[in-house]
Amino acid sequence: MNSTIYNIPKTIFLIGLPLASMIGVPLYVYQNGVVWQEPAMLLIGWFFAGLGITVGYHRLFAHRSFKAKPLTEWFIMFISTAALQNKIVNWCSDHRRHHRMLDTKQDPYSITEGFFHAHIGWIMKKTPTIIEGVEDLQKKSCVKFQSRFYWPLAISLCFLLPVVIGSLYGRPLGGFLWGGILRVTLVHHFTYFINSLCHYAGTKPYDVNTTARDSWYMALLTFGEGYHNFHHKFQWDYRNGIRWYDFDPSKWFIKTLSYFRLTYDLKKVQESRILKARFDCLSEQVTSILNERSSITYKKYLTRLDEANAKVKSYMKSWRELEKEASKINVLESIPGKINQINSLRLQYKIKMNGAINSLSVILVSLKDNLV
Ligand SMILES: [Zn+2]
Ligand SMILES: [Zn+2]
Repeated sequence: MNSTIYNIPKTIFLIGLPLASMIGVPLYVYQNGVVWQEPAMLLIGWFFAGLGITVGYHRLFAHRSFKAKPLTEWFIMFISTAALQNKIVNWCSDHRRHHRMLDTKQDPYSITEGFFHAHIGWIMKKTPTIIEGVEDLQKKSCVKFQSRFYWPLAISLCFLLPVVIGSLYGRPLGGFLWGGILRVTLVHHFTYFINSLCHYAGTKPYDVNTTARDSWYMALLTFGEGYHNFHHKFQWDYRNGIRWYDFDPSKWFIKTLSYFRLTYDLKKVQESRILKARFDCLSEQVTSILNERSSITYKKYLTRLDEANAKVKSYMKSWRELEKEASKINVLESIPGKINQINSLRLQYKIKMNGAINSLSVILVSLKDNLV
């Protein structure tokens, strides 16, 4: 281990934690068996701390994609502290820089430095602590409280609490291993996968010029954060999985809290912008393939591409005007029949945009498969 590059105590802790989980838990189970309280403590703790990171650190504090009542913010601060992923200010400063400087040397967990670096290496390495661009968060009472009492709070929630719960049913060591060591390890690594695997495996439907990728299977493991290409394109949207059936428990949690007015101002990107991003992404890929080919057949496709671009430009212009009109109607009194008319026009534009996206997809697949 190179002590000039790596922070030795941090490295020992981050390697020791999964090792202790892999050796300590099976050994304990072999000698003492399993009681239901221990897997239950693991799953409940994982659920709250994991959501604390995705809903709290990520979508609330780092991206401000929705607002929360002070009571909700304090609750989220407590559960997210149980994830043991440093203070809100440090985490959000790093994460905002990750978005700003994506895939450059200044990106703290850039995948361009390798999978290990993006996953955990960046935490182990000796790097100066830079806290910047989080002045908005530093004013919040729960953030100030967490910054002041972070370590006693984190150690109590991560390790002492499971020992206390374990003592209540006569197995403090079992509580410590299942609810502390193993639980923290899993929350750590499934968060780290967002920085490593979500920039490594999956598709790029919204932005082809980034390492961030969408994958439903990563969403299953990361409380919905697997739709990472969408997230990097529209980071202020409180959702990562935008279709109602996309597995995104963080989105569902935020939405559910909004019914009780515990969260509000949930930000959503307009559907027209999402469809436009998908079209542009395909258009860019088709253009780059066509630019490499020069036969007459490809020129024909270039013409079709230009026509599609012109059509989409006109749909988007009309759709923007429609939304402008719709926003005025919401402010004033609703005019009978007008809302229905606007919704029907919205649907028409959506169908037209989807048609343009589908035809470009066909061209792209044909070009990739060398069918034209
Ligand atoms: Zn990312
Ligand atoms: Zn983000």
